Amino acid sequence: MQSVTLNNGVEMPILGFGVFQIPAEQTEQAVTEALAAGYRLLDTASSYGNEEAVGRAVKNSGVPREDLFVTTKLYVQDAPAEENTERAFETSLAKLGLDHVDLYLMHQPYGDVYGQWRAMEALNRQGRAKAIGVANFYPDRLLDLIINNEITPAVDQIETHPFFQRADYQELMREHGVQIQSWGGFAEGKNDLFTNPLLSEIGEKHGKSVAQVVLRWLVQRGVVAIPKSVRPERMAENLDVFGFELTDEQMSAVATLDTGGSLFFDHRDPAMVRWLSARRVDG
Ligand code: NAP
Repeated sequence: MQSVTLNNGVEMPILGFGVFQIPAEQTEQAVTEALAAGYRLLDTASSYGNEEAVGRAVKNSGVPREDLFVTTKLYVQDAPAEENTERAFETSLAKLGLDHVDLYLMHQPYGDVYGQWRAMEALNRQGRAKAIGVANFYPDRLLDLIINNEITPAVDQIETHPFFQRADYQELMREHGVQIQSWGGFAEGKNDLFTNPLLSEIGEKHGKSVAQVVLRWLVQRGVVAIPKSVRPERMAENLDVFGFELTDEQMSAVATLDTGGSLFFDHRDPAMVRWLSARRVDG
């Protein structure tokens, strides 16, 4: 599996498996099948409610821990943020049944971001979170965090797919040593992604599906992708993107699909700030 090297030297597979919206009772089986298919990067979060199931699948898989890259996420914490972040991290580790995670992400750019980040820096220094990063940070918030703290986030996990490509933001991240990771790489099928004429036409030329074209396009841009599927045949299909290459012309053609905006929600929209901040979960 191709990997990227994060800004602290940690190696991260460029393609992994996401478990958002997989119900807890289905997650153990899905992760077991994903590991059997060959995935080694798993992406969960305290707010997904399925860390325990991910942990069970990891434990029973027989895959050596050092071959796995496990990411989980910290949800917005009440004050005092540093203390609660430490507690939330312990809760996540216990649920996962692990003694460290490979990547710990701040899930939302809300709350006492600085207090949360300082606690995450401490976890990173202790080696219990091999790398730390953020999710859903827009350029202004990311730069502010970088400039005013010691450790630069290793990753920003953001909505990135053919209809919201984030090329300028990726360039800014590159300048600062932050790895872009895509969530919703298929836009969860919105905008008829899986039947898009251009993506279908490119797929036909390579004998590949639209899903494979999209993942290939992400990987070829150096974007880490974490597609979700509960179907073993799709899990295998989504991993099989390293045996072909999109031409420069095809990469440029996909670039024309960019709408420059979210298909889900904008984290700077006051209604979303209210809604996402109102949720409180363990971790
Ligand atoms: P996604 O990967 O864009 O799309 C998943 C959807 O695509 C599912 O409905 C799946 O259906 C379908 N699908 C998967 N492979 C397919 C294929 N080969 N052909 C046709 N359909 C296919 O959506 P996502 O789960 O929202 O995003 C991926 C991961 O990113 C998440 O699981 C999570 O780990 C992470 N994420 C993070 C955040 C954040 O705030 N940080 C937000 C959202 C997501 P089936 O399952 O039925 O195959």
